[in-house]
Amino acid sequence: MLLEVRDLHVEFHTRDGVAKAVNGVDYSVDAGETLAVLGESGSGKSVTAQAVMGILDIPPGRITGGEIRFQGQDLLKLKEDERRKIRGAKMAMIFQDALSSLNPVLSVGEQLGEMFRVHRGLSRKDARAKAIELMDRVRIPAARERVGQYPHQFSGGMRQRIMIAMALALEPDLIIADEPTTALDVTVQAQVMELLAELQREYNMGLILITHDLGVVADVADKIAVMYAGRIVEQAPVHEIYKAPAHPYTRGLLDSIPRLDQKGQELYAIKGLPPNLLAIPPGCAFHPRCPLAQDVCRTDEPPLYDVTESPVARASACHFWKECLHG
Ligand code: SF4
Ligand code: MG
Repeated sequence: MLLEVRDLHVEFHTRDGVAKAVNGVDYSVDAGETLAVLGESGSGKSVTAQAVMGILDIPPGRITGGEIRFQGQDLLKLKEDERRKIRGAKMAMIFQDALSSLNPVLSVGEQLGEMFRVHRGLSRKDARAKAIELMDRVRIPAARERVGQYPHQFSGGMRQRIMIAMALALEPDLIIADEPTTALDVTVQAQVMELLAELQREYNMGLILITHDLGVVADVADKIAVMYAGRIVEQAPVHEIYKAPAHPYTRGLLDSIPRLDQKGQELYAIKGLPPNLLAIPPGCAFHPRCPLAQDVCRTDEPPLYDVTESPVARASACHFWKECLHG
């Protein structure tokens, strides 16, 4: 297994108390595999990814338990300089907002080239050639002519391609993309997602796609982990989830995807707000918003039940997963 996160816990110390951002997350991704991590903002999906990348070890965020095994090595036991080496060469992250992640006063060619100069010791000229090659790779038209341009001279979709190129530069084994297409319009979203999926196959990388939108990952993910209040509440192969979710929260997310045949109809939205991480509701954290909630849900926290009914494993943290799956 390329990456295995085991029983991860992360807390944030705030003036108002301890926010429990990640509460025992387990997930894994293999080479050539795409895991989509789904949830609303504050569900812990980004925080888990930042823990994997090792960019969370600064207060107020603190990893309070668990393991992050990457290529067999527990990253949480490594020293910061060993960690930095892995972060530079073996795993890369793509963020939502390319404009604030790129340096506005350096040309994209200089920024891409820097990866090769710093990490591979290439000359300025060779690094520039590599930058053009990468821009071609992510299908930026007229790469040779545009290599000297600045980030603001590119469209949002093209800037996101540049971010993908930066992430790919050192041919990492794992890419984590946090809402990589959220800032883009729908057609451009699909193109960027397709490109990412294609490069992932070509390089046989593991890919973790973080999103709040089930719609954008449907065609590219192999499996999905749905997060709520810092826990995984459902985990399954992507097609199984689409066929029939085994958790009411996943059902709510599915029902809130805009569909072409429902044009004009009001879109379903899960009622209520995500929980306050300083005071996560007792029992099932989703109970204040859940249409299937019973008394037991208010008192007993559901474990992650094995709900496998086909050859492929799946899990749901709902006392009433059967009703949800078959209802
Ligand atoms: Fe809803 Fe209860 Fe299932 Fe939680 S355990 S998702 S409250 S039915
Ligand atoms: Mg986020």
